[in-house]
Amino acid sequence: MSGQRSRPASRDEAQGTVHIVGAGLAGLSAGLALAGRGRPVVLYEAGPAAGGRCRSYFDRELGCRIDNGNHLILAGNHAAIAYLEAIGARATMHGPDRALFPFFDLATNERWVLRPNRGRLPWWVLLPGRRVPGTRLGEYLTLARLLRAPREASVREVIGSGPLARRLLEPLAVSALNARPEVGSAWLFGRVLSESLARGGSAAVTLTPRIGLSESFIDPALARLVSGGAQIHFSRRVTGIEIAQDRVTALIIAGEKVPLGRGDSVVLAVPAPVAKTLLPQLTVPDAFEAILNVHFRTRAEPGPAGFMALIGGLTEWVFVKPEVVSVTVSAAERVIDEPAESLAAAIWPEVCRALDLAGPLPPVRVVKEKRATFAATPAQERRRPDARWGVRTGLANLVLAGDWTATGLPATIEGAIRSGSHAAEMLLAQTDG
Ligand SMILES: Cc1cc2nc3c(=O)[nH]c(=O)nc-3n(C[C@H](O)[C@H](O)[C@H](O)COP(=O)(O)OP(=O)(O)OC[C@H]3O[C@@H](n4cnc5c(N)ncnc54)[C@H](O)[C@@H]3O)c2cc1C
Repeated sequence: MSGQRSRPASRDEAQGTVHIVGAGLAGLSAGLALAGRGRPVVLYEAGPAAGGRCRSYFDRELGCRIDNGNHLILAGNHAAIAYLEAIGARATMHGPDRALFPFFDLATNERWVLRPNRGRLPWWVLLPGRRVPGTRLGEYLTLARLLRAPREASVREVIGSGPLARRLLEPLAVSALNARPEVGSAWLFGRVLSESLARGGSAAVTLTPRIGLSESFIDPALARLVSGGAQIHFSRRVTGIEIAQDRVTALIIAGEKVPLGRGDSVVLAVPAPVAKTLLPQLTVPDAFEAILNVHFRTRAEPGPAGFMALIGGLTEWVFVKPEVVSVTVSAAERVIDEPAESLAAAIWPEVCRALDLAGPLPPVRVVKEKRATFAATPAQERRRPDARWGVRTGLANLVLAGDWTATGLPATIEGAIRSGSHAAEMLLAQTDG
């Protein structure tokens, strides 16, 4: 796909065209919801491809396609599941038929599999054999405390530093929030738990793409948008937004003015720093965290879940895919500036121990996403604007979308997709109501 992908959209002057800036998950989700309701949609994406921080590409070094980073969703992510169903891609995701989380402790060589029961009543914590090794029943009350955590508390303040914290809650919190427990928001972590584990094991079943992120989340969405008449323009960076009185009147793209019609509106679905550049008066999260992904070109047994959590080392999660074994380190600010070679050399022996592999370092690609997500701290949470920021501040035809807006979730696929459909609903309500 290159340059422009278009099929003439029937222009509906009464409803106006929606101009969507950014073709990440938030922009795509907004586009699908709007085009599905017959609204003319034009999407502008700065890059040569869609997907933003959730995409796949061919890596020459490894000689295969990889994802920019390992992504995992949960069965309780209802907006993500609805999105996949809407674009006909639900079957492109796979995972175990029940919730199971294999763990390996690098410090003690212990292995265990966390297997919460399916229903809401968490009777699994009553059975010593189902609990995390070395934990006591009383510690599990921490889960209830997280669900009621105050907005200002850090994860560490709520979970403490006992065995359950070290062996379960920290790894889950760091990957869900992309923030260390000392600074991560306990309230946001509680929100994630309330939509997954607290609803029972059936909501905590993990799903990963069978082939790649683009094959699951991006390409089918683009195909659906195009068949619905949306125009999609790649390599079109919006560099300015013109405003007159209470409306956006034009977008500036490559030095040219794209005027908006009287009934037109804008969904701004770009990352937070870009939104701030385009709308300087907007308050956005301004602290970010890194994610490190290390892809090894080798094969391994996927095990019961297709991934494993490692504790006590640098590696946090290892995913076994058809062509690569892929490691994720979240909240990676502390190591992100180390040379790629030394990171790969430190991680490979941990992977070998966890997956019973041996041999020299295989071909490897180290992907450093320095601004992977906003830092999910209480202070950053307060800086997230709601989608209606434009309407509230006198810009009647602009809504915001993106994982950094006030979704009530950390920066996730679920949050991004919800933000896009929420933005679309608001525009539809303006015209339908
Ligand atoms: C390494 C990594 C691992 C992750 N793992 C998980 C996971 O396991 N589970 C999970 O749920 N989430 C995960 N996430 C988070 C998830 O990927 C993001 O929350 C989500 O993709 C954000 O989507 P978005 O549309 O809000 O933003 P983006 O994906 O950033 O999309 C914004 C789009 O706007 C475009 N753009 C920027 N500027 C302009 C401009 N001026 N004009 C036009 N277009 C512009 C960009 O090119 C981009 O395509 C991970 C993220 C990373 C980076």
